[in-house]
Amino acid sequence: MTVYLWDTHSHLYQIPHWEELLPKFEEERIKVIVVGEERKSNEEVKEICKRFPKLLYPAFGLHPFLLPQLDVERELEWLEENLSTATAVGEVGLDFKGEEAKDSQIEVFLTLLELAKKFDLPVIIHSRKAARECLEVVRDSGWRKVIFHWFTCPSLVEEILELDGYFSVGPQASLSHSYRKVVEKAPLERIILETDSPVSFKGIPTSPLQVKEAVKVVSLLKGEPMEKVVEVTSANVYKIFGLK
Ligand SMILES: [Zn+2]
Repeated sequence: MTVYLWDTHSHLYQIPHWEELLPKFEEERIKVIVVGEERKSNEEVKEICKRFPKLLYPAFGLHPFLLPQLDVERELEWLEENLSTATAVGEVGLDFKGEEAKDSQIEVFLTLLELAKKFDLPVIIHSRKAARECLEVVRDSGWRKVIFHWFTCPSLVEEILELDGYFSVGPQASLSHSYRKVVEKAPLERIILETDSPVSFKGIPTSPLQVKEAVKVVSLLKGEPMEKVVEVTSANVYKIFGLK
């Protein structure tokens, strides 16, 4: 199996002139899983991944943060109609940072996990201020193809491993004690890489090119050479996403 540098979580369409980065991706052997947040961005993800099928892979999602302003029924219908063409379901999950209706977030998340099960797709999970709750909903759903993205709750790592879960780790892990602890606790065999681009790293907006910074961080925290980190995380991506 060929080894690539996989950025498994990018909002690529939010990066101005992202097309100009594509030759760089080819040069650096980077492949990208592009995550959507709702129908409009999902459509965009669908379209751009169709244009560059060997570089960009689509994940369609419904971001918990956006639920109050969306027609959820319509969003779910769109997903049901389009998930057969996706690599993953995401970005989805729970976000309890504000005062959002927690019960309805949980209900929608559970529905999305059921949809993922139906289409046999892995789920890319956002769990801000809701790590324990996300874990419980995943457990209730019975679906075990799950990736916890930017996960910062080290005390729950073991329970997630028991559920066969993976962790996607970005360069930002170097800046947070609890994020670092998660990487230290999780075995390399359950780690994949991400950027969450264009979210900033050290004050500068990222792109999938910064997945190389994620390699450095994981290499340092796991005490493994960078080549091994690239090799193992690449193999993990093929496994969890079922890519050939
Ligand atoms: Zn994201």
